[in-house]
Amino acid sequence: MAAGVYLHIPFCKSRCSYCDFATDVYRDPAGVERYVDALCREIECGNTSGSECAPSIAGQTGTLPTGRVTASVNTVYFGGGTPSLLRPEKVDRILASVNSVFSVAERAEVTMEMNPATVTAETLAAYREMGINRASFGVQTFNDRDLKLLARGHDANDARTTFKLLRDAGFDNISFDLIAGLPGQTLDDWKRNLEEAAAMQPEHLSLYLLEIHEGTPLAEQVRSGRRTPIDDEIAAEMYEVMLDRLAEAGYEQYEISNFCKPGFESRHNTKYWRLEPVFGFGVSAHSFDGKERYANDRDTAKYVEMIESKGTAEVFREEIDLGSEFAFLGLRLNEGIDIGEYENRFGTDIARSSEDLEDKGLVEIAAGRLRLTRRGMLFSNEVFQAFI
Ligand code: SF4
Repeated sequence: MAAGVYLHIPFCKSRCSYCDFATDVYRDPAGVERYVDALCREIECGNTSGSECAPSIAGQTGTLPTGRVTASVNTVYFGGGTPSLLRPEKVDRILASVNSVFSVAERAEVTMEMNPATVTAETLAAYREMGINRASFGVQTFNDRDLKLLARGHDANDARTTFKLLRDAGFDNISFDLIAGLPGQTLDDWKRNLEEAAAMQPEHLSLYLLEIHEGTPLAEQVRSGRRTPIDDEIAAEMYEVMLDRLAEAGYEQYEISNFCKPGFESRHNTKYWRLEPVFGFGVSAHSFDGKERYANDRDTAKYVEMIESKGTAEVFREEIDLGSEFAFLGLRLNEGIDIGEYENRFGTDIARSSEDLEDKGLVEIAAGRLRLTRRGMLFSNEVFQAFI
């Protein structure tokens, strides 16, 4: 089983009103340079196994010509933040670090998150040239009023123009991120977003319901009464409309929030849902090595200092309950869980322990697999709680 590599780039042009990710405003080139140095150092000398550069996943190790023990990797993902703010030379340097430690498959999926109005034809051509073959594009909404509410720092036309630039540069695997359930958003607004996205025909769509996180400007606006969150019934209706409209437009749903043209599932994100190993690098990055999860510090300055002084910024590590995580992550996928395989691996009859959920119409069994029903997707938290 090949692993994935996640690289966190914590810089954005400005701060969106709903964002609680580990990200800073991109304004200090020397700070960015220092961060990239630290990131490369972490990759090259870092914490893939908590100590030396030696991933410890049984059955997938090999030896590079350098003599270093390495893991096979078939997905690389630049997330953030806004990785597309990085100059191509920096991206190239980070990829060189990844290649120096991991054995990256020739046909690896290499994704970069990109935001509207952060790239040019030249930077995109350079990214393509160095092997970035998938763009995860932060559209969020085509409604300018809602983009202002979210303080996205771009308008809908920027998204349309950047999408054309991506296509012109040869990106033939593009994913859109869209957010539903914005304060003041109507069902018709949401339908218009779906129509425009479907007309543009990206290969993949990730559609999320807005979550209002404590400590963000949007949470403050809601608390002060300046914004009113939409009610649960409208949110549920938005979800149902989305399932129907995207199916009509030729998209397959393969995960609760993810849709694609046949063959364009996100190979990287699927690793998380199938509980496959992913090594994360950078501030706040999380890793899973097949047995344990571990995570880096969430503060960029502290992350850099820790890497510079001791080569690791790990602040958290725990062994996970594999059976429980395999169940609730696997149920996110439309393919669900193979009941026989689950019993072989974890010694539990998951069909039997899901009888209550089945009676409530939240899960169903078909062809030896346990999966969420459409109702179960709407109330997925209730289902997942049953496995935690
Ligand atoms: S672009 Fe993304 S990561 Fe950056 S501030 Fe906005 S939501 Fe957060």
